[in-house]
Amino acid sequence: MVPVSEAQYRQHNLTADVAQMRFALVLLALPNVLFFAYEAIIGDGATPPWLTLGMRASFLMASVYFWTALPGINRSEHFDRLVIGWSAVGVALLLVNAYAGAADYFGHYLFEIFALMTYFAVVPLQPPAKLAVGALHVVGALTILLMFKTPPHPLYLANTVFMLLLTCLAGYLISLRIEKYRRAATFATLELETAARTDALTGVANRRAFMQWADREVARCRRVEESSLAVLLLDIDKFKSVNDAFGHAAGDRLLIEFCRRVQECLRSYDFYARMGGEEFVVGLPRCDLPQAFQVAERIRASIAETPFEVGDRSVIKTVSIGAAVLHPGESEIDGALGRADAAMYMAKRSGRNKVVAEAAIDGP
Ligand code: GH3
Ligand code: MG
Ligand code: MG
Repeated sequence: MVPVSEAQYRQHNLTADVAQMRFALVLLALPNVLFFAYEAIIGDGATPPWLTLGMRASFLMASVYFWTALPGINRSEHFDRLVIGWSAVGVALLLVNAYAGAADYFGHYLFEIFALMTYFAVVPLQPPAKLAVGALHVVGALTILLMFKTPPHPLYLANTVFMLLLTCLAGYLISLRIEKYRRAATFATLELETAARTDALTGVANRRAFMQWADREVARCRRVEESSLAVLLLDIDKFKSVNDAFGHAAGDRLLIEFCRRVQECLRSYDFYARMGGEEFVVGLPRCDLPQAFQVAERIRASIAETPFEVGDRSVIKTVSIGAAVLHPGESEIDGALGRADAAMYMAKRSGRNKVVAEAAIDGP
């Protein structure tokens, strides 16, 4: 499985969490409307009407506020804070309701069990946060039940205590299962996304990932004045001879070692990718042509100076490199890639193991 940080997991699920929370709001707000209607029409008058109205209205207003605010949230910590705030309003409401209701108003505990279960099953918080809110609710509800109510029957009382505790525990176990399933789904998705951007043999980025990176970099270059972007195209010289002499597997190992050496020559924000076969590309942000030439020279020397171990033999391999920069007004990387490609073929034609910059071709 792909190692994935907590923050990555949360951010990955944020859109799904927001949609699920909106569903939870409907699920939990609707019974409140029904409760309000019940209390207003056939209630026994034990709860003052202003309290009933105030409680339900405040909960519904909080729910409507969250409903409208949720889609604009783009950070999972902010999302968690909002959901916990909303949960606190909900718990406070249930407790005030239980406290203010009639002495034998046990029907409320049925609603609390429903609310707790829905909360555990649907509200997209982490299980420990849900357990904390649920436990707080159960402790409060039981305190009210034991201290302020006169239960009609000990069996009824015991049953309610048992049901509330059992609901909290069962809800927690359900939320753990949901969390486990969601994590597995996230890992699988991230693994697919990573695979789609990575070259399977060498582990470096692939062509597709480079093109996506280049799109972003070109856009940045156009926004930021005096910013530059250079590209290098690398093609290993006479690579076919390695395969012919030592076999394909040895060629594969050489490619992996080649990539490691090139990466050692790069800065952390340079982008290195395999374009296909024995051809590679380097994206160099904030680099002009002379600087790009220097980097390319460093790579060329590092490859040519140290022989590669192939089986029990050492082979010297060289690389030809073409360098080009993004020209003012260009909105795509393709032009620079084409010029780097032409420069690279120029390097091949003039004897290989060379770096050629685009200016050398365009010049007089
Ligand atoms: P030049 O100096 O003109 O670039 O010569 P070259 O032999 O490097 O170029 P050519 O394009 O003729 O051959 C490239 C070879 O790279 C052919 C192919 O078998 C080999 N190759 C491409 N991809 C892989 C790979 O993943 N593993 C191995 N072992 N070989 C590969
Ligand atoms: Mg080639
Ligand atoms: Mg080649």
